[in-house]
Amino acid sequence: MSAEIKKIGVIGAGQMGNGIVHVCAAAGYEVGLHDISRERIESGLATINGNMARQVSKGLMTEEDREKALARISQAYELDQIADADLVIESASENEQTKRKIFSQICPILKPEAILATNTSSISITRLASSTDRPERFIGIHFMNPVPLMELVELVRGIATADETFETSRQVVSNLGKKIAVAEDFPGFMVNRILLPMINEAVYTLYEGVGTVESIDTAMRLGANHPMGPLQLADFIGLDTCLSIMQVLYEGLADTKYRPCPLLVKYVEAGWLGRKAQRGFYDYRGEEPVPTR
Ligand code: NAD
Repeated sequence: MSAEIKKIGVIGAGQMGNGIVHVCAAAGYEVGLHDISRERIESGLATINGNMARQVSKGLMTEEDREKALARISQAYELDQIADADLVIESASENEQTKRKIFSQICPILKPEAILATNTSSISITRLASSTDRPERFIGIHFMNPVPLMELVELVRGIATADETFETSRQVVSNLGKKIAVAEDFPGFMVNRILLPMINEAVYTLYEGVGTVESIDTAMRLGANHPMGPLQLADFIGLDTCLSIMQVLYEGLADTKYRPCPLLVKYVEAGWLGRKAQRGFYDYRGEEPVPTR
């Protein structure tokens, strides 16, 4: 038997948190959005509003459903405004101390039977769970970016995650219209464990002069039928995020095959973090992206 989930609290109004709120509200859940920054909550709601409007204009959602979904979202400027949630999904910055601090604040006010989930891309679920008062009701629900568009969610159980927690989470995720892949709790789970070494290898291929940015991306788009080239994808993810996931794989699996490419490190040191910084393997400041190497 899985517990009934009516209200979902989302912590972190960044690009992922906003997407999670969007899909939860659209699926009929009542949602409270909390962030340490008031502005982020407000800009998050504006983003959700705009993204839903785009879905309406594309015929993917009716105007009536959009209005209903928006009415289900509340701004939780204080954490205790989501204390009555049945499920809390933490999606704050990828920093273990930040996440531990959030758990230490939310656990004492959350219903004892509520499930606590994290959207972390790389931090151990078991380790995060052990810092809470409810390791058996703790789980990794790893959404993909952009959440409203990507079909997959990885469900990651920690060593102590109870079957009921897993079953309830599985039910919620399928109610969101997402497909599930179950991963064990090891660095990078599945998607990033496979995807990031490929991106890192593409950067090595560039670093060693085997190909240019353009030829590497063309090779993988047309030669492997990937919808985006690996360097274009790296820019989309954010080169700092790519580097930090490679570091987690390198340290967590203690294998030199995960060594981050020095050229990736150099781009991050330059602040060329990809699309969000207007420059990465491509320069996005003009009309068309121009390769930077
Ligand atoms: P982001 O930087 O866009 O947003 C993070 C948000 O957390 C910010 O709004 C920040 O104000 C807020 N925050 C920081 N400290 C907080 C605190 N103590 N309390 C409440 N809010 C706090 O980051 P993002 O890309 O949305 O990533 C969020 C999480 O999702 C991370 O764990 C990340 O690893 C994971 N994730 C990211 C991606 C991706 O492609 N970006 C994909 C899957 C999972």
